[in-house]
Amino acid sequence: MKTIGLLGGMSWESTALYYRLINEEVRARLGGLHSAKIAMLSVDFHEIEVMQANDDWAAAADVLAHSAKQIEAAGADCLLICTNTMHLVAPAIAEAIDIPLLHLADATAQQIRSDGVSCVGLLGTRFTMEKDFYRERLEAQGLTVFTPDDEGRRTVNDVIYNELCLGDIRDTSRDAFLDVIEGLRERGAEAVIEGCTEIGLLVKPADTSMTLYDTTHIHAKAAVDFALGGG
Ligand code: GLU
Repeated sequence: MKTIGLLGGMSWESTALYYRLINEEVRARLGGLHSAKIAMLSVDFHEIEVMQANDDWAAAADVLAHSAKQIEAAGADCLLICTNTMHLVAPAIAEAIDIPLLHLADATAQQIRSDGVSCVGLLGTRFTMEKDFYRERLEAQGLTVFTPDDEGRRTVNDVIYNELCLGDIRDTSRDAFLDVIEGLRERGAEAVIEGCTEIGLLVKPADTSMTLYDTTHIHAKAAVDFALGGG
């Protein structure tokens, strides 16, 4: 089994989920007392969030590239950046290491394409929804991507940072997300990407008839595929 490298803490609420999902998947595939080999480094999200708010992506890239090198030195055979948003600096991180970076948007797009879906709504932080890095990566794999209107994007972004990253799960926010999802359906989305690693903590498949692609689950499974050599 290969060792999975996790660059986490953004937020730790979802990194804890990655850790559990990866271990559950390894146990499901190998049985018994098998668990995943993981090298994890968890950053202080406050420091990263300040850099995001200041649009200081170069500083964030430096911090995360340094962390990625530490994970590689700890014995990891691959690296997962455990947040959609910080894939904005994925090229700089990939450049800093010699192990493969398992890109979250690629894994998600492959899953969606293999299900025969082509028009998707995208929920995430304002950076993920509004900057080009994520949408273009999905479009490069043949997907048509819709994002919510201004008000919907503001609601989704604010709930992520003010509630979900703090472990605060509210029914009123779930209802607000479901309204946004319905808006995306009306505009032609066949499915919705939960393009923030905490959204699955709030909106689950049972909450809506819309097909949801939870990026945390997809990324965790891709890591186990890598670690166990496929399947
Ligand atoms: N975990 C979130 C994501 O998947 C947001 C936190 C962050 O800004 O990194 O985008």
